[in-house]
Amino acid sequence: MDYDKDFFDDSMTGLCAALCKIAGVEPPQCAAPASASLLGELHDAYGDIAPDRVLIYNPDAIGDWVMDKYIDKFASMLRVAPIRHRFKTVFPPKTPVCFASMYTGAQPETHGIVKYVKPVVTIDSIFDAYIRAGKKPCIVSVKDQSMDKIFRGRDMAYFSEKYDDEVVDRAVELIAKDEYDLICVYNERYDDAIHVTHPKSRKARHALDCYAVNFDRLANAVNEHWQSHDTLIGVCPDHGVHRMAIGLGNHGKNIPKDMNISHLFGFVPKRV
Ligand SMILES: [Zn+2]
Repeated sequence: MDYDKDFFDDSMTGLCAALCKIAGVEPPQCAAPASASLLGELHDAYGDIAPDRVLIYNPDAIGDWVMDKYIDKFASMLRVAPIRHRFKTVFPPKTPVCFASMYTGAQPETHGIVKYVKPVVTIDSIFDAYIRAGKKPCIVSVKDQSMDKIFRGRDMAYFSEKYDDEVVDRAVELIAKDEYDLICVYNERYDDAIHVTHPKSRKARHALDCYAVNFDRLANAVNEHWQSHDTLIGVCPDHGVHRMAIGLGNHGKNIPKDMNISHLFGFVPKRV
């Protein structure tokens, strides 16, 4: 694996239909076929599962190479979500472009966000698919960020919080309430850190530690409050990151460091 040359094969657009298939929901209309390799990996690990709860943690800007380099910081995530699946994200690897593809299963030219803008995505999404299936999705995000804005307009709940910690506070509260079938939780501290420093800076490494703590809080809440549910937990970043010649971190280029991402998955069976 050459971090500067080798792209992963499996398109991240295959995530959406895979999540739907596992949750027993008809995928959105423009979604690419479900990633067969992801479904195979989950089946090999857990057999025929049918989770009635899905919790997706969306930590911004974790490239596959970042996960490799700081794998110790991902130890707690890997304990809960040990299935590590390599995806190639969509181009350009910018936050709204990638999250629009993640949750519609469509390429940027189809969902319409092809650069760093945050309009409402009007094509069918996993949230619409869940609503049609009679299930309740919700999004918990930092206010005015991509995940807070681009899936507005659906008959569902949106929670806009001040920053990552408050997002996780809210998500923990929602898990405890046990009302939502799909909860997507967005955090951004690492992306913020790399833009003002670089991907390996002290500030960036601290942000990775924060992601780990925040994920633990979510996973603990699932363990405590969703004991009567079969739960799929995912850790699904949008794109990677690289360091520019001028020294700062960035993303948006068609290079493996920006395009290669790893998603983590784990299944927590019901206990009561
Ligand atoms: Zn991003």
